[in-house]
Amino acid sequence: MTGSRYLIEATGRRIPVDCGLFQGFKQLHARNRKPFPVRVNTADTVLLKDTHLDHSGYLPALIRAGFRGRVHCTEATADLCRLILPDSGHIKEEEARYAARKGYSKHKNPKPLYTLKDAKAVLDRFEMNAFDQGIELGDSIATSFIPAGHHLGVGQIRLEVGGRVVHFSGDLGHDPESLMRPTTTFGGTDVLVSESTYGNRSHPETDPEAELTPILKRIFARGGTLLIPSFAVGRAQALMLHIARLMERGDTLHVPLFLSSPVAVDATEIFHRPHAGHHVSREDCEAMFRIAARVNTVGQSKELNTLRRPTVIVSASGMPTGGCILCPLASFGRDRRDTILLSGFRAGGTRGAAWPPVPPTIISSVSNVRLISIPPVSWWRACCRKRPLPVQRMC
Ligand SMILES: [Zn+2]
Repeated sequence: MTGSRYLIEATGRRIPVDCGLFQGFKQLHARNRKPFPVRVNTADTVLLKDTHLDHSGYLPALIRAGFRGRVHCTEATADLCRLILPDSGHIKEEEARYAARKGYSKHKNPKPLYTLKDAKAVLDRFEMNAFDQGIELGDSIATSFIPAGHHLGVGQIRLEVGGRVVHFSGDLGHDPESLMRPTTTFGGTDVLVSESTYGNRSHPETDPEAELTPILKRIFARGGTLLIPSFAVGRAQALMLHIARLMERGDTLHVPLFLSSPVAVDATEIFHRPHAGHHVSREDCEAMFRIAARVNTVGQSKELNTLRRPTVIVSASGMPTGGCILCPLASFGRDRRDTILLSGFRAGGTRGAAWPPVPPTIISSVSNVRLISIPPVSWWRACCRKRPLPVQRMC
């Protein structure tokens, strides 16, 4: 659960599969600062399944520590990492500066785990591969990426080593999925390595748009803003797709919808290109773009935080641990007319996992708090805070 990292040792080779960040609880988070468990210059190739930071977010630290090899992934994963990793480097630098300014780090001069420059250094290490294509890695080792249906570019990894097969499932999507084509099933394997992030949940058979409609109507009726912290890749696009469809059909008021995250904006443009991995029609892609105003600058984002009328704002990050979402949380978390809708997985120990504190006492379908469960999101929690949120302003 977060910090996805595996190491294959065979025929004298060392091949890491994924290189993710540990997220959430402090003791887990602290593991990012521990030296990589093997000498990094003894590994020559990383296989990367997924753009999300729990799979890719340690790559800049690996390169900083001396890794000189290549990173094999799909084309869309490389495209999305070009957005996600530099953003992560930038946030890490900002957090270190903020900690130094406020003096809350135990270190006198707190240093980021990695910098924007380290993150950019990853970008020319990518070897892009098509799905379902055999990739020879030498020394009788071959691999291929198989569509996982989770989000754009995510692949299961099938690794063949000296006649034995090891299959890494990665994060899997489910069927029906609003954006992605279904997960490709795979044949026999000698060893199966499965992710545990979603492994203990069954997906409910509910219609996300039917569940969103009454929530949107209620918020708009009282003149509030719906703020949705969201993963910038995959989740933000699914949310916009559903909301765009509801507004176009007239199932809910047509209010301004803002996508307030430069990374999510760029990721949406990547979704908009023809991609074999997703099944969103051209019309739906265009509707997504037509309906959402894209917020790219700090100035625009600050202006947005002063709005007091029915509005929907989708912003990153989803857990929500940092980035563009912190300022709007501080602004909209204070007004009872507004609602914060937490969408999807939040690792234990993150800000989002702690909200709301005691669900049964504050869940009520009329008084601003509601627990709903919507595919493709594992589960969503909508809550309107009755008191200011403990959020640090970073802009
Ligand atoms: Zn993922």
